[in-house]
Amino acid sequence: MADKRDYYEVLGVDRGADDSTIKSAYRKLAKKYHPDVNPGDKEAEKKFKEASEAYAVLSDAEKRKQYDQFGHAAFENGGGGAGGYGGFSGFDGADMGDIFGDIFGDLFGGGGRRRTNNGPMKGANVRAGVRVTFEEAVFGCEKELDLNLKETCETCHGTGARPGTQPETCPKCHGEGQVVYTQQSMFGMVRNVQTCPDCQGTGKIIKDKCTDCHGTGYVSKHKKIQVSIPAGIDNGQSIRIRDKGEPGTNGGPRGDLLVEVMVARHPIFQRQDMNIFSTAPITYAQAALGGEVRISTVDGDVMYDVKPGTQTDTKVRLKGKGVPSLRNKNVRGDHYVTLVVQVPTKLNEEAKEALRKFDAACGNRPKEEKEETPEKKKKGGWEKFKETIKETFED
Ligand SMILES: [Zn+2]
Ligand SMILES: [Zn+2]
Repeated sequence: MADKRDYYEVLGVDRGADDSTIKSAYRKLAKKYHPDVNPGDKEAEKKFKEASEAYAVLSDAEKRKQYDQFGHAAFENGGGGAGGYGGFSGFDGADMGDIFGDIFGDLFGGGGRRRTNNGPMKGANVRAGVRVTFEEAVFGCEKELDLNLKETCETCHGTGARPGTQPETCPKCHGEGQVVYTQQSMFGMVRNVQTCPDCQGTGKIIKDKCTDCHGTGYVSKHKKIQVSIPAGIDNGQSIRIRDKGEPGTNGGPRGDLLVEVMVARHPIFQRQDMNIFSTAPITYAQAALGGEVRISTVDGDVMYDVKPGTQTDTKVRLKGKGVPSLRNKNVRGDHYVTLVVQVPTKLNEEAKEALRKFDAACGNRPKEEKEETPEKKKKGGWEKFKETIKETFED
């Protein structure tokens, strides 16, 4: 892996190149080095493969993001170096099929896929979703998924033919699974290989179908699958579980299961990447006098020492109380808390009196105003008005 060239360098584009630039750069290289144009040229073949691999990654937004972040390490086993987080597929045959279809579909005039369906083929990937709580995403968890997965039919052992009968060799393609046309193209005569339309590339025709699987060779089975959700996973990220997708054909490996994680909202915490944000109420007295306040974090409550004279909306940072890095759970983000001074709404008479004294002590309230409360005000029009309003709305 160490001697691998940078994908951007391979395609000769800069790191900010957009999709169409990447595509046209790849098309140029692919035309130049394509094995059909350079028969027997090993160096050209190597160049072609290198460019195809670079294109497979850089043309896929998700893979490109991973590559930009982790380099080639993103596609080595296990992906990204995070224990158990096989989130990113390597460069495999299944992915290449799409690219050949995309690029050579028009380059070779339709049906230009060079892949045959008759050889061993990896099964399709299966997608599933799993919901986790905010804390489960932060600290990781184990989840069990109930899925319907295709399994080889036991009655016919995957042949699709009724027991006692055999699938017959397809007469159109003689069991090859593909039919070859030669066609005039911009490179001269080009062999154009197409999947056999009669047997859909299997090379076999089933006359007497297995009744249990209706000739498909597969049955759907209910399966429970354990998923390890790594600490630090974020909403929308996927976990790849190898070999839990659909079965391969002709002895090919199973596809993968891609489990997308949906993280529930938290009543207090918000998350952005590795940092957590929340607000914490403090009383007016705590803000003015300072003192310890209790603040909720994902690690439980912590006591924070508020400085005397703290203003509302003051932001404090609780270092290392954020979300762990997916790559190393010992590295954690921070928790930012906005301290919000609460204005009391339900005051008893003693508290009201204390506040009036406080206000007077601060020089904000003339002494005589203090004298006319509280009895006078209680019987005043405003209190009566409030009562009337309350009754009106309670009806
Ligand atoms: Zn069957
Ligand atoms: Zn056929």
